[in-house]
Amino acid sequence: MSDFLSLFFPNYCSVCNLTLSKSENLVCSHCLSNVNETNLHLDQPNQLHRRFFEIPNLKYAMSYAWFQKDTVIQHLLHQLKYEGNEAIGLLLGEIYGEELAQYYTDKWDMITCVPIHYKKERKRGYNQSYRIAEGMSLSLKAPFIPLLEKSVNRKSQTKKHRIQRFDNVESTFHQKNSQVNLKNKRILLVDDVLTTGATLQACSQPLQKAGAEISIATIASTRS
Ligand SMILES: [Zn+2]
Repeated sequence: MSDFLSLFFPNYCSVCNLTLSKSENLVCSHCLSNVNETNLHLDQPNQLHRRFFEIPNLKYAMSYAWFQKDTVIQHLLHQLKYEGNEAIGLLLGEIYGEELAQYYTDKWDMITCVPIHYKKERKRGYNQSYRIAEGMSLSLKAPFIPLLEKSVNRKSQTKKHRIQRFDNVESTFHQKNSQVNLKNKRILLVDDVLTTGATLQACSQPLQKAGAEISIATIASTRS
């Protein structure tokens, strides 16, 4: 924003609401310095690997911050997911990507992300993980390619009990750009929050089957 415009339309920090300086974007540097970083990218393999027992050859597992209530990262992810502030996804992806780029150069051939159901995406207007992956792609200088789609097999589901149906929906993803050859490709799979790891494991299945090497990065992670 120009100096003239910012006189009339100052930008405010998305977390603390203080006026941003010209060099700051969406979040002030004070709030960013309060992010409770995991620094697990410096320690491979690390405690996150234990959540991905279905990815035997998982290369790197990383998460930017610990997910806790009333923290900077929780506020930012809430705005990204529920308040339509999609620019926050790009910003967080860029920030974490820049940090990773200090230690990881030429480690990935492509970056992809966890898809959300198309109805959810239509309602929200975007997929939050898609935005994060785009930001990481800029910083890490690896192409972002949306490779995955959530498969919903309605016919078989109607016959099943509710709990089985839930399990079924949770565990099905497939490769949508099947013309992209994934054999021996080093893929960084991105999501917003890591909890049990079940979704990320389900997403990695078709990629592993196609012969890719998987690494995982999220913006936040629960402690266990
Ligand atoms: Zn702030």
